[in-house]
Amino acid sequence: MEQSKFTALLNLSHELGRADRQMAILGEGNTSARLSAATFLIKASGTRLETLREEDVVECKFETLLPLLAQKHVADAEIEAALLASRVDPQAKKPSVEALFHAYLLTLPQVDFAGHTHAVAVNQILCSPRAREFASKRVFPDEIVYCGGAAVFISYTDPGLRLAQAIRRRTEAFMQRHRQAPRTILLENHGLITLGRTAEAVLAAMLMAEKAANIWLGAANYGGPKFLTKQHVQRIASRADEHYRQRMLNV
Ligand SMILES: [Zn+2]
Repeated sequence: MEQSKFTALLNLSHELGRADRQMAILGEGNTSARLSAATFLIKASGTRLETLREEDVVECKFETLLPLLAQKHVADAEIEAALLASRVDPQAKKPSVEALFHAYLLTLPQVDFAGHTHAVAVNQILCSPRAREFASKRVFPDEIVYCGGAAVFISYTDPGLRLAQAIRRRTEAFMQRHRQAPRTILLENHGLITLGRTAEAVLAAMLMAEKAANIWLGAANYGGPKFLTKQHVQRIASRADEHYRQRMLNV
């Protein structure tokens, strides 16, 4: 197993789970990393991001989980069995049920790591009638650089297989339109997912999305937010890819 990815995943988990960041408490949230075309690492069910240890991470096979995403009716017991069967080491803990959407997202181009949290500021907007607006509008340039010019938005969906299927449907539509994988996926009344080629990119997108949400919430007290125009967003987004590549070379 690639030790550097394992270590990067543990570090990412600890960063996302830090109490002062208010993005995940108790068993909330999860993280994953693609190891090869065949397997990926994911946080085990019932473990904590903040204190994640080596034995709390499970290596899973894509081929056991991805076919479920194409099936219409799958019983809960069948999903449970597939999660257990996907483990490379049968002695390992049970992977999080969100392994289903992580498996799909880790097949996207330029995506080797994924993180999911229930960040407080982002969720204040995602639990409001303005949730969809947060996915399509942008408030400042660095939000575009780290989180993308737009996010995928998922209306509230039952966590587990249904959520994974909705994420796949909406992400495919996003990629047709934008010709690249998203950096952020917003889940109404639930939380957010960030994606990247490195653990650092996933953390950066998560922190920047939370900052953007905090700025939104503050600006709403002063008659805002006042959004960047479409032209401004496009201008930064076209440069953002270049910035992103340059930054990623250093991490
Ligand atoms: Zn969640």
